[in-house]
Amino acid sequence: MGNAEQLNVSGTHLPLVTLGPGMRLGVWTQGCELACPGCMSRHTWDRAGGVRTPVVDLLARWQEALDRGASGLTVSGGEPCDQPAALGAFLRGADELRSATGVRAAPDGGAPDLLVYTGYEDDELTAEQRAALATADAVVTGRFKVAEPTDLVWRGSANQRLCPRTELGRLRYGPHLTRVRRPHDAGLQVVVDRRAEDGTWPMRWYGIPRRGDLTAWEREGARRGLSVSAPSWRA
Ligand code: SF4
Repeated sequence: MGNAEQLNVSGTHLPLVTLGPGMRLGVWTQGCELACPGCMSRHTWDRAGGVRTPVVDLLARWQEALDRGASGLTVSGGEPCDQPAALGAFLRGADELRSATGVRAAPDGGAPDLLVYTGYEDDELTAEQRAALATADAVVTGRFKVAEPTDLVWRGSANQRLCPRTELGRLRYGPHLTRVRRPHDAGLQVVVDRRAEDGTWPMRWYGIPRRGDLTAWEREGARRGLSVSAPSWRA
């Protein structure tokens, strides 16, 4: 589905510190039809939105991340696996670049890893989607289920599974499969963009909030005179 040269992207961020270990490049794809109740990223659902981004441009961003010593790449969404051709091309290119720049190892001494989030269960993935994920070191699978809160690190609900798929993935993620968040784990990264023409300040939340965190954040903002308009976690 789709072409292999362009990935429809909702956004990118470097450095990302809340979805996977260390300092990472985050890439969020645009388009998701799974419509999990309680999804905090409803702005990524509409396939017609986003920016059709050449895979070569995303690879240039990944190269920049490698040059800055990134620990890895995290691809989330939206639903990355709904664009298997471009996702596969991006992950294969990312794998080649990290191999070519292997001497620039991440600060923990390991190679930069590739982590992908998908709302699909493993047994729902098509052959094409599996092929797209062939170079991913780890995949987090499963819908977000608001009724199943969890403290498991890097997961939004208890049903979601962190699945290492390579030797690097087992090494890097194996110790975290059942690990709960520690106080020093980064939970939610808040980034304020440049002021918009209408005077508002676009803000982005990266990571996985605990239940109630976003409401508490809004309440505290309101107490300080900061109102959040059109948050992506409400319809
Ligand atoms: S949580 Fe993920 S899979 Fe579920 S609707 Fe939101 S973007 Fe889609």
